[in-house]
Amino acid sequence: MPNLNPKKTPMPEQDPAVRRRNFSEVALGYTEEMAVQEAQRCLQCKNAPCMNGCPVNVHIPAFLRHVAAGEMEEAYQTIVETNSLPAVCGRVCPQETQCESKCVRGIKGEPVGIGRLERYVADWAMAHRGETAARPQRNGRKVAVIGAGPAGLTCAGDLAALGYEVTVFEALHAAGGVLMYGIPEFRLPKEIVQKEVRRLEALGVEVKTDMVMGKVLSVDDVFEMGYEAVFLGTGAGLPSFMGIPGEGLVGVYSANEFLTRINLMKAYLDEYDTPIVRPKRVAVCGGGNVAMDAARSALRLGAEEVSVVYRRAEEQMPARKEEIHHAKEEGVVFRLLSNPVAVHGGEDGRVTSLECIRMELGEPDASGRRRPVAIPGSEFSLPVDCVIMAIGNSPNPLIRTTTTGIEADRHGCLIVNEETLQTTREGVYAGGDAVTGAATVILAMGEGKRAAASIDRYLREKRA
Ligand code: FAD
Ligand code: SF4
Ligand code: SF4
Repeated sequence: MPNLNPKKTPMPEQDPAVRRRNFSEVALGYTEEMAVQEAQRCLQCKNAPCMNGCPVNVHIPAFLRHVAAGEMEEAYQTIVETNSLPAVCGRVCPQETQCESKCVRGIKGEPVGIGRLERYVADWAMAHRGETAARPQRNGRKVAVIGAGPAGLTCAGDLAALGYEVTVFEALHAAGGVLMYGIPEFRLPKEIVQKEVRRLEALGVEVKTDMVMGKVLSVDDVFEMGYEAVFLGTGAGLPSFMGIPGEGLVGVYSANEFLTRINLMKAYLDEYDTPIVRPKRVAVCGGGNVAMDAARSALRLGAEEVSVVYRRAEEQMPARKEEIHHAKEEGVVFRLLSNPVAVHGGEDGRVTSLECIRMELGEPDASGRRRPVAIPGSEFSLPVDCVIMAIGNSPNPLIRTTTTGIEADRHGCLIVNEETLQTTREGVYAGGDAVTGAATVILAMGEGKRAAASIDRYLREKRA
């Protein structure tokens, strides 16, 4: 008999008043008893609509059946058949628009907490299974992966499992991409990402950090070094700015830079002397997940007041509902229907205020959302010492502008064959945000997987 409770088993969390001043994980994870209870809410639907919402087709009813029976090892094996980063996806997948959005339990109540259970199983495996990995037999053929984000790491792992000698070239000093430099510790502990990187290294993947490809080595150099195929998983790390006056003042950051200083350069640890403004009053411009991460991180750095400035209404905010809810609980102020028009500074060149104008919603635009229109004469000023721009990112052009034959569309996204993910140059494949523009971890992983299968086919045919 399934558990008929219409609500998800609540996730234990740190108290908002405490967690707003620390970087420890907000969600504390289910106990085994909670996990079993939640998994028992699954109706084991024959057609499993939830699976259609998962970009990598995790066999959800099967893994939930195992959890409900207390068979955690079997549950883990079921998940990793299709998803190599369950501890990450269970934490950061936007489940409410993916797997859980299709769950039939969601029709008359809350869907099954698929993400929470995936996290539980992955954490159980980390605690009980160790980091063993059998090194596969090598086939003597070399593949290079550029970029160590979820797309690159997944592609590298799949190719290494097939016997290829894989080298990952990463520009930063740590592998993980946005998982390391963007998503904050309080949502995704970095140790989880590093365990995953170590698992790949144990499979035989070589990770070379501090390699800004396109500067240190070109793609042509890589082929000359004996690599027979290249995967580009370079992400979308080039931040956009609004183009308003005052963006050059001291104290104006892109969200990427602000979060990188906190996460990768460890400003969140007291023992690190990371160069970063320790702001008192902060305005974050934007309404997506990146804006929520920047706002909540600013609070944890010690800011007294943090405002999110967004030009549309809350219903139009692209951020996950859960992130907005958490940000509100922690005291972030939402200044909606407000658009920044200028940053002002003092004689010392530091930010003193953000000038905004109030907006109202007009007719729908091309995206179907009602277009925000400025209300003349409604300007107002927010006294702040830091402004963080979180209005979007695009792919960095470095690789394609230093390599012949790799083409991109007008947004800078690499053009690939939809089926094979080969770019416009033979032997060079691409996937993840570098192709789609800023998207999600699980979509990037799905493309890394598909590209690995294509590269394998290409190299087998090349030799035949
Ligand atoms: P990335 O993760 O960007 O990795 C690309 C890697 O390539 C980086 O390590 C970069 O340093 C490296 N690189 C770039 N250029 C070069 C070069 N020339 N040479 C060598 N290396 C290079 N998604 C979710 O699903 N859930 C979330 O909660 C979520 N939160 C997010 C929060 C933030 C702050 C941000 C910025 C993004 C978030 N995303 C989230 C989006 C998600 O992280 C990305 O869609 C995903 O990481 C894309 O993976 P990727 O491998 O394509 O690229
Ligand atoms: Fe859901 Fe993401 Fe897990 Fe797929 S990988 S089942 S979308 S949490
Ligand atoms: Fe279980 Fe929901 Fe999937 Fe049905 S749709 S199998 S109830 S998780």
